[in-house]
Amino acid sequence: MRAERVIPLQDVERVRIYINEGQLPLRDVVAQQAPDIAITGVYYTSAWRPTCHLKAGGKVLADDPSYQPPGLAWDRGPDIHQATVPDHLALNYLSCCLLTASGAPEPKLYYNADVGGARGRAAVWLRGQELGVYACTDGADALTPEALQARLEEAYAPDTAIMLDGGSKVNYYDRASGTLIQGNDPSQNLILIYLKKKEGTPVDKFTVCLDPGHGPETVNASPDGTYRESEFAWDMYGRISALLEERGVNTVCTRTEDTKPSLTERCAVSNSAGADCFVSIHTNAEGVSGWGTAKGLEVYTSSGPDSAKRNVLARDILDRLEAEGVTLRSGPLKHSMELTVLVKTNAPAVLIEYGFHTTQSDVTLLKDASYRDKLARATARGVCDFLGVERPEADEPDEWASEEWEAAKKAGIMDGTRPHDPLTRQEAAVILERLGLLD
Ligand SMILES: [Zn+2]
Repeated sequence: MRAERVIPLQDVERVRIYINEGQLPLRDVVAQQAPDIAITGVYYTSAWRPTCHLKAGGKVLADDPSYQPPGLAWDRGPDIHQATVPDHLALNYLSCCLLTASGAPEPKLYYNADVGGARGRAAVWLRGQELGVYACTDGADALTPEALQARLEEAYAPDTAIMLDGGSKVNYYDRASGTLIQGNDPSQNLILIYLKKKEGTPVDKFTVCLDPGHGPETVNASPDGTYRESEFAWDMYGRISALLEERGVNTVCTRTEDTKPSLTERCAVSNSAGADCFVSIHTNAEGVSGWGTAKGLEVYTSSGPDSAKRNVLARDILDRLEAEGVTLRSGPLKHSMELTVLVKTNAPAVLIEYGFHTTQSDVTLLKDASYRDKLARATARGVCDFLGVERPEADEPDEWASEEWEAAKKAGIMDGTRPHDPLTRQEAAVILERLGLLD
């Protein structure tokens, strides 16, 4: 299998080096980070460390000052250019096996014998104002480094071209074509490319970043150990995202079920996805040993004023929760500049404490699946109110049909499910019979 893409730099929003600490397969990285294009990065060791020059978001991950080859360097992404690395001024850089520099193919390629021969390959290249990616898998499309160089020269005549990691570590994703090449091995580092959003696309019009708090090793639990905050947060993420996706809202998640990213990493997921809002999912704890008495739900944003988008979002969610009869704390909208996920996210951000896992009656509710549904429904509805999403929920008719829908249900002519599905011929026959037209 082979995949390639040429991307005009003017379409690039951002280019990131993603460090895959969790050793996740590509599918999970794509689900979490929501890039438009992803490709395997530079070589790494069995100790899960990159070996070629690599700097990601200001952090140097691999460096050898005695060796200063040409590589690619950039700050945000559209500014990507050939540079001698290490390039101390750039926020990001990489080099690996150099194929072409300054428009001239390298006369001799330097690589270790164990990466030679025909195998799967990944490469990134630049020509003028175009950025290109190339990936092929082991098997029929496998290439030697020299053949890869020749192939790129012939097809693109790049100014700069770099061969990245290969073989079973070739991972490649392209959202536009739906291409997903998932190598047998995950990549330690990946180049993630985010494109500028095009206006007016009805699907994926909005992106919401959901942040299930904590992770598997979190100790936060009820005093009797029967309830865990991280499990609740993960479960609620699934419920809320399903409701949002069903209404045409794209969601990204800050973690997978078995990972626990840092707070800054969570913000980075939201920021690089260009999220329209950010919702962090938690439960509260009272500073007591054993069971406490504090009850109810509260929502945090970083600060006032009420008119700020984050507070409008918080109010929209609180209104929906109140309408569902959920018990709220007195003064349920609170502010804190101490919460990293609220301060370092670009999108309007809220953190919801859905109840107290230190209070017995709240824990009983929080464990209950139908209560979780209620919380998820209210959260998703509040988010949709905030975004101005017009598409109704799957089990709700459109506004214009709601009266007739209810009447048809009441009269026993229709069962009141699937309001947006087409009517089949057999269903039409049943309706005619119920209307008494067939007697
Ligand atoms: Zn928490």
